[in-house]
Amino acid sequence: AWNFSAGPATLPEPVLRTAQSEMLEWRDAGASIVEISHRGPEFMEVAAAAESALRTLLSVPTDYAVLFTQGGATTQQALIPLNFAAPGQPADYVITGHWGKTAMKQAQPVIATHVAATSEADNYRSIPARDTWQFAADSAYVHITANETIHGVEFRDIPDTGDIPLIADFSSSIASEPLDISKFGIVYAGAQKNLGPVGISVAIVRRDLLERAGQPRADIFDYRSQLKAESMLNTPPTWNWYMLGLNVQWMLDEGGVAEFARRNARKAALLYSAIDGSGGFYRNEVQPAVRSRMNVPFFLRDEALEKAFLAESKAAGLLALKGHRAVGGMRASIYNAMPEAGVQALADFMQDFATRNG
Ligand code: PLP
Repeated sequence: AWNFSAGPATLPEPVLRTAQSEMLEWRDAGASIVEISHRGPEFMEVAAAAESALRTLLSVPTDYAVLFTQGGATTQQALIPLNFAAPGQPADYVITGHWGKTAMKQAQPVIATHVAATSEADNYRSIPARDTWQFAADSAYVHITANETIHGVEFRDIPDTGDIPLIADFSSSIASEPLDISKFGIVYAGAQKNLGPVGISVAIVRRDLLERAGQPRADIFDYRSQLKAESMLNTPPTWNWYMLGLNVQWMLDEGGVAEFARRNARKAALLYSAIDGSGGFYRNEVQPAVRSRMNVPFFLRDEALEKAFLAESKAAGLLALKGHRAVGGMRASIYNAMPEAGVQALADFMQDFATRNG
């Protein structure tokens, strides 16, 4: 079966097999990876190797810290204003879909949020042109959602925000293509799409930003303390960290982000042409220039056929195609671990279904 889940998402089979074989006994530790101390030399080595592989995969510059934190992207969205905005200081949010709204909502209890731009008026099918964005005076940062997982809208260019640090939620597109991290103040992502299993997040933070005082906060919510403790201020999610390391190494072995950029471009082209070439049987409503390469929402012309589409696709081994309830219709998530053969199988099914029901 091919799993098109938006997240937690499909992981590469070789990664799952390695994890399975190491689950009862991890190397010579005499215990499984989830049963050993995070402070012992065995796990410290796993953690360091994961960071080193991630730095290589994403070409992380040395003046950026890499943090592995518990929780999801939403946790990061709540920690960012605490760490990087001073009391009373506003921050800008560019809203291009559901997750941009979530990010702003997490910040609202602690700072004055300001909407620099929004595509709400067209139901998040586009990205407002950069020259229409307006920033608050003394803004702490500008937050964008690099890829809107639900609305299927993706930034294809990194916006220039001048001296205001750009913070980007890359939860659903990290490692999908080469990225110039130096253009960002912070890049963060929950792991459960392209990096590994849910429960751990990655934050790549320009070190000078860590000198900002931020808001009064508990030590455990302080990025500086986390960095000082090498992301082990308390017990880290060791299994998730280990799995992330395996998955990142798999991506390196497959050829790295340049190779995944090529594969992802081919997969997205295949799926969008199945939609656009269906004579209107299927449609995607996102402005073509900002269509997501990772999450492809689509609708059937005849909504009454949705149930049959879902039942028959599932029976054909094409899983989790139901769209998010905020948008409706269908959605296929095609992250790095989804092989081209899976997308081809979906495109073939869609064509066959359209022929039988058109
Ligand atoms: N941001 C984006 C772009 C997402 O896709 C998601 C989850 O799907 C989130 C944030 C929220 O992540 P989490 O559930 O890990 O908090």
